[in-house]
Amino acid sequence: MAPDGDAGNEELKPQIPRAKFAGFRRAGIRRTLTLTAAALAIWSFGYGPLLPWSPVRPGYAALHSRRVSIVYPTGTSLPEALRNPDALLEEAETFHRLAAARPITVILLPDWPAAYRVLPRLARRGIGAITLATGRTIYLMPTISERGLDPVEFVRHELSHAVIHQNQTVFGAMKIVEVPWLAEGLAVWFGNQRAYITDEEFFRLAPRRDVEAYIDPDLRGRLDGPFDIRFGYVCWRHFNAFLAGRHGEAYWRFVHAVARHPEMWRESFQEHFSQTLPQAVRAFAERLQTDGRALPPALAPPTSGRRTPRSQ
Ligand SMILES: [Zn+2]
Repeated sequence: MAPDGDAGNEELKPQIPRAKFAGFRRAGIRRTLTLTAAALAIWSFGYGPLLPWSPVRPGYAALHSRRVSIVYPTGTSLPEALRNPDALLEEAETFHRLAAARPITVILLPDWPAAYRVLPRLARRGIGAITLATGRTIYLMPTISERGLDPVEFVRHELSHAVIHQNQTVFGAMKIVEVPWLAEGLAVWFGNQRAYITDEEFFRLAPRRDVEAYIDPDLRGRLDGPFDIRFGYVCWRHFNAFLAGRHGEAYWRFVHAVARHPEMWRESFQEHFSQTLPQAVRAFAERLQTDGRALPPALAPPTSGRRTPRSQ
C-alpha cells in the first residue's frame, strides 16, 4: 500500500522488488541502530565508563560472581568480604525474607569528579553510597575511602535497599524513601553499621532526645535543633529491632506490605501491629527512658528465614 500522499503516483516510482526493498529497509534499520549505538557509546564515554550499562570500563577491573559484580578502579585492593559478594546478597535475602531476582553491580567510584559525572543529581559530599531505584546498581562514593570507613558495611547497607527495591516498582522505590525510619533503619540494621554512633552513645543520648520526633515524619518539625543523622540512623535501627522483637513475623509481613505500597505505610502499620505509629514510638521511647539495654539485640540479624518470592 502506498503511503498517504502518494496515492495515484505509484506508477511513477521506480519498481523495486518487494524483497529487495525489504532488504534496503533492513539495512537502513541496521545502519540507524549502529549509529544510535555509536552515539550512545560516545555519550556514555563523556560520562565515564561507570554508567550501569557501560559495556567496557577502561581503568576499571571487575569481579564477577554469579549474581553480584564489583567494578573497582584498577589497582584498588578489594576487602576479603567483597570477594564473595553473592554470600552477602544471600544473607540480605535471608534477613529481609525476600528474593532479589536480578543481578546487581556494585561500582566503587574513585574520586569526586567521577562521582559528579556519573551521578550529577545525586552525588553529594558526605554521602557514603547510593542504590539506584532499579535495585540493580550500587555506587560507593569516595566518602568511604576519604573517611577510612568500612566499605563492606556500606555494601551491606545498600544491598538492603537493593533487595527491597527489586521487590517494588521504580515508583515504589522512590516513595519508600519517604519512610526513612523503615528503609534506612532496616539498612543500618542489616549493615551492622558502626559508621554512626555506638550503641553505648545511643542509649546514653536517647533519654534526653525527642525520639518520637526522630521517628515520626509528621513530628520532625518539633525538633528544637538540627536533625542529627548519626543519631537518627541508629535510632531507626533500634526501633525496627524493637518492632521485630515484639511482633515477630508480623513485622516482616509489614515490611513486605510497605515495599509493595509505600504510600499506605501508616495504614499498614496499624493493620499489622494493631496500634498506630505514634503509640508504638511512645512505647519505644518509654523503654529507652527506663531500660534501653533491655531492647532486643539490634545487631544480630536472624540467621534463618523464609524468602518471599518476588511477585508477592
Ligand atoms: Zn540508605
